[in-house]
Parts: sequence; C-alpha cells; structure tokens
Amino acid sequence: MTTLVCSRAGCDSPATCSVEWRNPRIHDESRRKVWLACDDHRDYLRDYLAARDFPVQVVDSLPEAR
Ligand SMILES: [Zn+2]
Repeated sequence: MTTLVCSRAGCDSPATCSVEWRNPRIHDESRRKVWLACDDHRDYLRDYLAARDFPVQVVDSLPEAR
C-alpha cells in the first residue's frame, strides 16, 4: 500500500485531505487540480491558491478513498 504524502515542497508527512483547485485562466470549468495536504499544510496550500484568486476547496478525503 502506498502512502500519499503532502504536496507541499519539502514535506513528506502523510496527506490527510485534498485541496481541489482550478486556474480559471488555463483550466475550463470542469477541470480540477488536486493537491494533497497534511494537517499542517492544508491551510497553507488553500491560502496560497486563494491568494491568487483561484477557486479552491479543501476536501477531508484523499482521491484514493473516493
Ligand atoms: Zn505537509
């Protein structure tokens, strides 16, 4: 079984949630990018994307589990 780790550079903590986002300039409405985040970085990653005015939502599950 593979462990999914946080997408934050330099972080290798196990991911606990998914950060789903989209860049309106290059992605159409139906596209979603998914970053994985650990507890420490879920807010960091969400804020990073929100600061760029990208639509973003944090989901309390991992892609594998859905
Ligand atoms: Zn992390």
